[in-house]
Amino acid sequence: MARLTHLALRNEIIAACLEMNASGLNQGTSGNVSARVKGGMLITPSGVPYKEMSPDQIVFVKPDGTWTGDWRPSSEWRMHRDIYAGRAEAGAVVHVHSTHATALSCLRQAIPAFHYMVAVAGGHDVRCARYETFGTQALSDAMLEALDGRTACLLGNHGQIAFGPSIAKALWLAGEIETLAHQYAVARGLGFPVILDAAEMDRVLAAFKDYGRQPARDTA
Ligand code: 13P
Ligand code: ZN
Repeated sequence: MARLTHLALRNEIIAACLEMNASGLNQGTSGNVSARVKGGMLITPSGVPYKEMSPDQIVFVKPDGTWTGDWRPSSEWRMHRDIYAGRAEAGAVVHVHSTHATALSCLRQAIPAFHYMVAVAGGHDVRCARYETFGTQALSDAMLEALDGRTACLLGNHGQIAFGPSIAKALWLAGEIETLAHQYAVARGLGFPVILDAAEMDRVLAAFKDYGRQPARDTA
């Protein structure tokens, strides 16, 4: 068998999958994780339990959807492929069926600016894409609309998807989206949350550009 390329990245993808299920962000074989590599992407195989996944099962997929090897890529490879094609800043994509994000997606509702942290996805809200069948180009097209100017969105009657420059950051963002969905669901259960206005969200987005920057460790 040919020598495995990108071994460290393959292991990082599997570690992210194990973490997202262990933390309760995802369950079963739902969800998928990918990372951009030269000439395409590496993505989890379809329907394989994460605990059984080995580095050789992570599939290299080219932008035209062709792949090599014995393992079929995630049924959602189009969503991942289209994010990499349209968003140069994307280095990794995480799709999960986290409970609260999924529950809200079943109401086909965006997460509005009930809390300033919705800016974490890059805008004034976290949109919800219309429903389309899993694994289809129609789903990816709906996702791209909802992701316009954002780095995460809900997927109608399905779950959520998030991307970032690295696997760690994409996984972190998916966790933030789930937390926001949870908080919003609780707030809605208590009454009618006050929604922050556009001017305030613009201030928050401006402040976020600097948030977390520390002179001692140059990360943003
Ligand atoms: P895969 O196992 O094919 O990645 O599918 C899981 C999923 O979440 C489909 O939307
Ligand atoms: Zn899914």
